[in-house]
Amino acid sequence: MSLFDCTCEATSGHARALTYETAHGSFQTPMFMPVGTSATVKGVTVGQLNDLKSQVVLANTYHLSLRPGADVVEEAGGVHGFSHYDGPMLTDSGGFQVFSLADTVKLDDDGLTFRSIYDGSKVRWTPETNMAIQEQLGADIAMQLDQCAPYPAEKAFVAKAVDLSAKWARRCLTAHQRADQTLFGIVQGGMHLDLRLDSIRLLREIEDESLAVGGRRFGGFGIGGYSVGEDHEVMFETLGDVARACPEDRPRYLMGVGNPTTLVRAVREGVDMFDCVLPTRTARMGTAFSSAGRMNMRNAKFTRDFGPLDPTCTCPTCQNHSRSYIRHLVKQNEMLGGILLSIHNLHYLLDLMRRAREAVLADSYEEFYGEWMASPAAKDY
Ligand SMILES: [Zn+2]
Repeated sequence: MSLFDCTCEATSGHARALTYETAHGSFQTPMFMPVGTSATVKGVTVGQLNDLKSQVVLANTYHLSLRPGADVVEEAGGVHGFSHYDGPMLTDSGGFQVFSLADTVKLDDDGLTFRSIYDGSKVRWTPETNMAIQEQLGADIAMQLDQCAPYPAEKAFVAKAVDLSAKWARRCLTAHQRADQTLFGIVQGGMHLDLRLDSIRLLREIEDESLAVGGRRFGGFGIGGYSVGEDHEVMFETLGDVARACPEDRPRYLMGVGNPTTLVRAVREGVDMFDCVLPTRTARMGTAFSSAGRMNMRNAKFTRDFGPLDPTCTCPTCQNHSRSYIRHLVKQNEMLGGILLSIHNLHYLLDLMRRAREAVLADSYEEFYGEWMASPAAKDY
């Protein structure tokens, strides 16, 4: 196997089980990627991530390039050396954060100008400078700079975002040089299937042009611009057709989605990779995923409940601590409460995707899906 080889071991319906090679080991899909915004999965140590058998960890270009700065991270040996995580890592482009965090962002055909949320300083990104930053950060997978249209938006606006994202995809693919890092293109187009298919066609043309002149192709296809406020049923109207229009021989990564049932359904539509802050963010708010659906651990009914958080879960939190103790920690704002719930919630999604993979390998994904949808956990979107 050579770097960025993608092998499909099995399919079950549209669901796939892939193995993908990176310089920091291979990863297997379907897969959920914990988000480590500032090169840390909040509250969880690298040792704990390894114990959870986490595969790819995501880090955020917006935050790391502003604090501590890409040059500092580079000097520390990139995101791997800096964070001491030696498994595969992915950086997003930060474009999504520019649009969602910055009060003032100026967009032109050539790039983005925005003010740092940390000190208000003016920052300018072009596709080329963004690639240079992600190469400094040195994750195994970089994402192209793109424009994610808000929801709802006029179709003409979404079409312009598809066009601009494709122009930037071409420039990113040309600018990207680092041999031990691959670049994923990003499909945009909002909830419009025709625009989504245009976006995929443009990305494929761009990589064909690149290959024709001895350049590289995209290492995978990100699917952005979903889960931006629409109802999940709206996403599923187009997601399957979009996923399956992406190349078969590389991963399809649905960006920013982490609800358990959405994952189970999206895998069935042919999606391979997911990331979301949901498991750790909800954990810090005192919420646990569980086989009985989501649980608010602040609830008084857990005061004298000395049973495990989720009796079906094998994570360290559920093996060692009671609902009563976790409720107490959460109510007292003890930091361990958020930590224990983060470990549990991450395990929940990582394990869910491991079981999804086993079902694909056994060609029994429809049974797995049917059992999930009939379970109390299925209401968890
Ligand atoms: Zn657990």
